[in-house]
Amino acid sequence: MEQHRNYIAGEWVGSDEVVVNRNPSDLDDVVGEYCLADTVQTNQAIDAAAEAFPAWAASTPQFRFEVLDRIGGALLAARDHLGRTLAREQGKTLAAATFEVERAAYTFKFFAGETLRIPGERINSLRPGVEIEVTREPLGVVGLITPWNFPIGIPVWKLAPALAYGNCVVFKPPELVPGTSWEMAKIIHEAGLPAGVFNLVMGKGRVVGEALLASLQVNGISFTGSQGVGRRIAAQALATGKKVQLEMGGKNPLVVLDDADLDVAVEAAVDGAFFFTGQRCTASSRLIVTDGIHDRFVDALKTRMAQLRVGHALDPDTMIGPVVSEEQLQQDLSYIELGREEGAELTGGEQLQRETRGYFLAPALFTGTHNDMRINREEIFGPVASVIRVRDFDEALAVANATEFGLASSICTTSQKYASHFKRHSQAGLVMVNLPTAGFEYHVPFGGSKGSSYGPREQGRYAQEFYTTVKTAYGRPL
Ligand code: NAD
Repeated sequence: MEQHRNYIAGEWVGSDEVVVNRNPSDLDDVVGEYCLADTVQTNQAIDAAAEAFPAWAASTPQFRFEVLDRIGGALLAARDHLGRTLAREQGKTLAAATFEVERAAYTFKFFAGETLRIPGERINSLRPGVEIEVTREPLGVVGLITPWNFPIGIPVWKLAPALAYGNCVVFKPPELVPGTSWEMAKIIHEAGLPAGVFNLVMGKGRVVGEALLASLQVNGISFTGSQGVGRRIAAQALATGKKVQLEMGGKNPLVVLDDADLDVAVEAAVDGAFFFTGQRCTASSRLIVTDGIHDRFVDALKTRMAQLRVGHALDPDTMIGPVVSEEQLQQDLSYIELGREEGAELTGGEQLQRETRGYFLAPALFTGTHNDMRINREEIFGPVASVIRVRDFDEALAVANATEFGLASSICTTSQKYASHFKRHSQAGLVMVNLPTAGFEYHVPFGGSKGSSYGPREQGRYAQEFYTTVKTAYGRPL
């Protein structure tokens, strides 16, 4: 079987240790073997990025525009192949996987345009005869560390702005799903990015991630993943003087008020809680429903759940693919058991058999829950949601905000007054009205508040806050 090698200083570099990438829809289907980099190789990648940095930082916006635009175009042209690889290794449906690849391509194109718009300003001095200019410069070498749930979407929303603003990159994808990242690296190589500007080091967090954090040549780390790992990374980044950006977990509330359109609310709940197998940081895991609509909402949601088809990610009839791994499946099942022990009533949540061996799990809905239960406080990261019954809007808002997380929230209502109040007072970085908590657009900022995020926002032009540093120049013209 072909071994997929790491991409360091413009070369494909092998290693002794490999990881076997298996399809969670069909464990007999091996996506490929992927080389695991060690500390030495990671440091070679960092050296290559540091060496490439001066020329890349000094390259013209037009040059960077053309390379990024070419990468975006090549990703679009390869969307079917990449979408299939992504669906095979991660388990989201082929349609969702292909859409993710398209979004990644358009993100490159968006940031190609941003290379031409890097802002600066001239501000009048307090002193006569002095001029002040404020400009933005790249950080230098940035390390990108990403999770398994969006194998190309999340890497690209870090990589494209990093390159656009003149940084060089060492990228560590998750061990579980390196395939789409590898395909993307091949496309980047073919698009003619100068050697060393982008490096792919597949490997373990404890090895590659730690080496990135330890290096004094790495100036910034952008991380998406779990809260536990994120907090450790922040501490290590601080110790070595790196700028750091963290996007972490969520326990996102979907509020349904008495006056909601029932169909809209049920669709928002099904999409937010169960599509993508609930494996989204923005998934709706707490459905906070007022008394007057509670029973109708729960009945309609259960009816809709019975229609959801769980199966192989490549089957066009599948609406929900498998759980990504055995480990994640066990985590989901243990929380389902915990919910029962905590006294909640369960619908669904059983392991399913399909023609192929895979990690199939029926969506699980808990009713009769309250916000203090562990199933409502801790991120499960599977197709598991709880209904919390509340009296009115005020209680709904208080419960929605009673969490250490603050990534996304949503409200279903036909009242402008409640929608406006919720947008203003919901303690989340992303607030939706009559929409699922999940779903984003690449041209506007993404990120959370409280325990969900740390550092500047990602995406849109707000991405420049992390990937550039500001210089203030004072001068007396000669
Ligand atoms: P994870 O934290 O286990 O791993 C994320 C990445 O960190 C992986 O590449 C992993 O190899 C690496 N890593 C692990 N230990 C490390 C260490 N000691 N040093 C450096 N790197 C290390 O997360 P996961 O299980 O891959 O992903 C699921 C989590 O990601 C969930 O908590 C989810 O909410 C979160 N997530 C957040 C967002 C967001 O934007 N807020 C988006 C997607 C996923």
